[in-house]
Amino acid sequence: MKSSTMPLARRAENLIGSVIDSSTSLLAAQEHDIVRFAMGSPADDAVPLEAFREIAASRFDHSSFTYGATEGEPGLLSNLVDYLSTTPDPTSAERITITTGGMQGLDLACKIFVDPGDLVIVESPTYTNGSATALSYGAELLEAPIDENGLIVEALPGLVARAGGTPKAIYVIPNFQNPSGTTLSLARRELLIELAHQWNAVIIDDDPYGLLRFAGTDIPNFQTLSPNDPLLFSVRTFSKILAPGLRVGWVDTDPAVRQLVINAKQTMDTCTNIPGQHILTEFIRRGSLDAHLDFLRIEYRARKEAMQASLRRHLGDRVTMTDPEGGFFLWLTLQGADAATSTQALFKTALAEGVAFIPGPALSPSGRFDDALRLCFASTSPERTEEGVIRLTRALDRASAA
Ligand code: PMP
Repeated sequence: MKSSTMPLARRAENLIGSVIDSSTSLLAAQEHDIVRFAMGSPADDAVPLEAFREIAASRFDHSSFTYGATEGEPGLLSNLVDYLSTTPDPTSAERITITTGGMQGLDLACKIFVDPGDLVIVESPTYTNGSATALSYGAELLEAPIDENGLIVEALPGLVARAGGTPKAIYVIPNFQNPSGTTLSLARRELLIELAHQWNAVIIDDDPYGLLRFAGTDIPNFQTLSPNDPLLFSVRTFSKILAPGLRVGWVDTDPAVRQLVINAKQTMDTCTNIPGQHILTEFIRRGSLDAHLDFLRIEYRARKEAMQASLRRHLGDRVTMTDPEGGFFLWLTLQGADAATSTQALFKTALAEGVAFIPGPALSPSGRFDDALRLCFASTSPERTEEGVIRLTRALDRASAA
């Protein structure tokens, strides 16, 4: 006998999916040529395929295909810690857990800290796969505005007072934020740490792009500003600096929280895939990561500048854009008469013209920013970018004439 309603858990209501991820399959189904500014994926030619092939041939053995330790392969843990000691993000092995990408880090943070009904502050706009993770644990989201210096931390006490309650977590992307490309200033990082302590709220510090700074100077991260702080939960990934298909990232937490991370991960996936970890262990051991990051920084800087130049050439003052000092994304806001164009509607026209982006409302839990859009400059060569911007301009002309 068929029951008329499925016996779903209450939390299933909050499994809203991802507009960002759905656009991957939508784009894959298109048969015409499309310049892809939508996904935040490294350029194909930025993935060191030959090195990966060679490592797979020489390193893989039976140990690559059996279960591994939940906290991560010992070789990767130690090579990663050694590598990070040379960056602005130093840490120690008792703080690190290898995860299945950054997404699992976000899931673990919410699983450990967020109960149904808890208030979670998110940036507006934000990486909505992150805010959706908090939602999936029943969070009440409080969207807080950003400006060119990232999250407007000074505004948080007022927003929280109006919302009522005390936040349990603050989800922040401090460097070259997805989607805006903006970076949180030093003063705001310091104030955010102060507020987190006042509220006893965890800072979910999601930083996939921090090592991809190609201009300006590093700003100390939360761990440096507040060492050994149990309220810091840092989420990192190899997806943007090497390859997203590896599905390997890490979280950096207080050792006591790390034990909960390991316990939680044991009920999720036992351990992160071992072949991916072995590739990374060897890639880092060879000292290849530094050279690779140097190459990416030069390449992505050139790509960002090319995209900005194309946008200025073809769209002039019809848009404003952010000026990121690293990462993958530019955030465009339509100006003047074009501001009346819905970027969600524009998306369809743009797809027909052969260019894809992420419309602003997909990057806000409440669907704001219909006059804005996200462009990924990292995946496309300057020549293709010029063509993509010409197509985007054509789409905007069509939309505004309609
Ligand atoms: N956080 C942010 C801000 C991201 O941009 C991404 C990837 N788009 C992730 C987390 C997820 O990373 P991963 O692909 O490693 O799961």
